[in-house]
Amino acid sequence: MSTAPRLTIDLNALVQNWLKLKGLSSQAECSTVIKANAYGLGIEPVATALTKAGCKTFFVAMAEEGERVRAASPNARIFILNGIFADTLEVIKTNNLSPVLGNVDQVALWATHGEANACALHVDTGMNRLGLDVEEAIGLSQDTSKLSKLNTKVLMSHLACADDPDHEHNTLQHENFQKCTSEFSNLEHSFSNSAATLARPDFHYNLTRPGVALYGGEALNDVPNPMQPVVTAQSRILQIRHAKAGEKVGYGAEATLTRPTKIATISGGYADGFHRALSGVSVPLREAKPKGANVWLEGYLCPILGRVSMDLITVDVTDVPSQILEQAKWVELFGKNIMVDDAARACGTIGYELLTSLGGRYVRDYIN
Ligand SMILES: *Cc1c(COP(=O)(O)O)cnc(C)c1O
Repeated sequence: MSTAPRLTIDLNALVQNWLKLKGLSSQAECSTVIKANAYGLGIEPVATALTKAGCKTFFVAMAEEGERVRAASPNARIFILNGIFADTLEVIKTNNLSPVLGNVDQVALWATHGEANACALHVDTGMNRLGLDVEEAIGLSQDTSKLSKLNTKVLMSHLACADDPDHEHNTLQHENFQKCTSEFSNLEHSFSNSAATLARPDFHYNLTRPGVALYGGEALNDVPNPMQPVVTAQSRILQIRHAKAGEKVGYGAEATLTRPTKIATISGGYADGFHRALSGVSVPLREAKPKGANVWLEGYLCPILGRVSMDLITVDVTDVPSQILEQAKWVELFGKNIMVDDAARACGTIGYELLTSLGGRYVRDYIN
């Protein structure tokens, strides 16, 4: 048995979440966004499970991630959101990956070297990150000599404010996208991340691109999360200490005990992506003023005491009955009992960031 923190990843819950989003996508194909090691869960098992469930199209950020998806899913379409560069041509072509062309230089590069391999076209409708401007996209739609050298399958764009479905910026982006879809009417059109897949059926077009919701994260602000939790993070109890009122806990001696306290010292810390801002005392960090996170122990929510260290976290378990404490080996950091987004909120961030911060030290167990 290891003292490493562990992640239990419920592949059945993952597949159920994908089937739900596929159902909501109605006539559109439902792809999977599997970048950043499948949001921390592990690219290979996630790609394998979703391929088996019927997913035929994946999106990743980087060519190296695409190479890993290819090994797990030999026949899938795999799109590379970062596009194409001279030094990624080889890995992209060897693994039959499809770049999402994100500017006119990439269009020119792929027209010269793509050898009619499939690609997608990204149009920037209002984020100023990646994609051709609307004018450039319309210009390309009229450049038949260039277009004839490209085997373009998908026209896509990405939303800045989909987590707030009624945000006016969605309308502006949609208008810009429609200017391009009409010029590329022969392509598949893709406009929806998780949030728009859940809340904007009018944005589904031909291909939806959910990510975070598949992994159980909150995609929409201010509504109950309809997805099943997929990841449970647990930390091993290393020892239980008894401390007196008035004593201090943790770095900076910031936490002062207000009562005689039982403290569980558990394994794991910010080196495992359990951010320092989850500490039970204020940690100066940007403007976040967290109250600190809880961990879950057999039905009891136990507050974190003092600062989260690199490899250790101290937790107030005074209110947990001794019979339970004597038997207890693990606490839940988040999972079925503490939603990943509730843990994320406690450190002023989002579920996406907490999930993708989970480091290499976790023992990852795949169930179902
Ligand atoms: C990450 C990403 C997605 C998925 O977004 P979620 O909010 O996780 O569903 C979709 N499209 C693009 C272009 C992305 O970068």
